[in-house]
Amino acid sequence: MYCPFCSAQDTKVIDSRLVADGSQVRRRRTCNECNERFTTFESAELVMPRLIKSDGRREPFDDEKLLVGINRALEKRPVSIEDIEVSINKLKSTLRATGEREVPSKMVGELVMDLLKSLDKIAYIRFASVYRSFEDVKEFGEEIAKLEK
Ligand SMILES: [Zn+2]
Repeated sequence: MYCPFCSAQDTKVIDSRLVADGSQVRRRRTCNECNERFTTFESAELVMPRLIKSDGRREPFDDEKLLVGINRALEKRPVSIEDIEVSINKLKSTLRATGEREVPSKMVGELVMDLLKSLDKIAYIRFASVYRSFEDVKEFGEEIAKLEK
């Protein structure tokens, strides 16, 4: 790649190592023209399917939005960031494994519920009560009873 300092086309890799659990390669480079050094990170671009909203609109898959929703449900719950990240990665590979270019956003909602159910029951109830907007108290009670079994 070109040197970000002098735009020379001739740069060379002087060190290369795996970072972030092997999911990224960090490269130290040096410019043959100006001798400046810089770092690049390389990671696989994993394309996520787009989401089809209930009204038919399409939206790009949004990591940030997903994390915010999950964190909100898990607020003050004893679940580590590590466990959350592992679960989110699992959810994303499930979506990629469909091989579809577009999936209903409802499917993501269901996957998030499964994820929360296995992480933390309280968080699951919080999320499900908003997501499913339980019609009445009876339905909510039934959901909790199912969990208690
Ligand atoms: Zn340079």
